[in-house]
Amino acid sequence: MGKVISIANQKGGVGKTTTSVNLGACLAYIGKKVLLVDIDPQGNATSGVGIEKADVEQCIYDVLIDDVEVASVIKATKVENLDVIPATIQLAGAEIELVPTISREVRLKRALEEVSDQYDYIIIDCPPSLGLLTLNSLTASDAVLIPVQCEYYALEGLSQLLNTVRLVQKHLNQELKIEGVLLTMLDARTNLGIQVIDEVKKYFQDKVYKTIIPRTVRLSEAPSHGEPIIIYDPKSRGADVYIDLAKEVIAHG
Ligand code: ADP
Ligand code: MG
Repeated sequence: MGKVISIANQKGGVGKTTTSVNLGACLAYIGKKVLLVDIDPQGNATSGVGIEKADVEQCIYDVLIDDVEVASVIKATKVENLDVIPATIQLAGAEIELVPTISREVRLKRALEEVSDQYDYIIIDCPPSLGLLTLNSLTASDAVLIPVQCEYYALEGLSQLLNTVRLVQKHLNQELKIEGVLLTMLDARTNLGIQVIDEVKKYFQDKVYKTIIPRTVRLSEAPSHGEPIIIYDPKSRGADVYIDLAKEVIAHG
């Protein structure tokens, strides 16, 4: 059974999708079988691994709402060992359409169970909210990885996220663990970044990954080429740090 990891933070723009795509691709590069699951209606993880949204006939929406078999929506990517379940804007309706359905919080879990023995890691890119899609992701997961951007108010909103994690642990998924907190988009030229690192470490202590993701131009360019950094520029600093993160995630067992 593969380890299922949610990449979650209800704040937008903190590096969830960048981390999902590049952690997934780097785990695959190291030789792990990886399934990337896009459950954000914006579909940025989908396009980030080179899948044209216009070419997607069925996506995670059809699995969650219409009980379509999960194996039939999985697509291979140009990264060896990396598959993806795409999302399109159609998924925007799911947040509402799930409300009256039976076992609405466990639909993703049930679906992923059908294929989890084929993968070492299943990485889920969550939307920027704590709605039913994120609840489905946390319910399906063994662990949650929380990206935190190195900026003012970095910790803002995290108590809400941690509270949601506790509620999921209590009512939906006792096995859910906090895999770790990942500091992202560090600008080494400012003192602010260092202050934020101290603050986040004080709060989360040994839960903070040793790997810190710097802000780099190459990481921000890669998505527009539909390529994870390990393909777009394998010798870049961005590729190095996401490989380091992948190794840390593997070491966590
Ligand atoms: P989220 O999924 O949390 O909304 P994204 O991963 O989409 O966040 O990141 C938000 C924006 O910041 C995107 O344009 C992305 O390319 C850029 N970005 C993310 N991480 C980095 C980084 N380490 N260096 C430079 N740009 C980054
Ligand atoms: Mg995103």
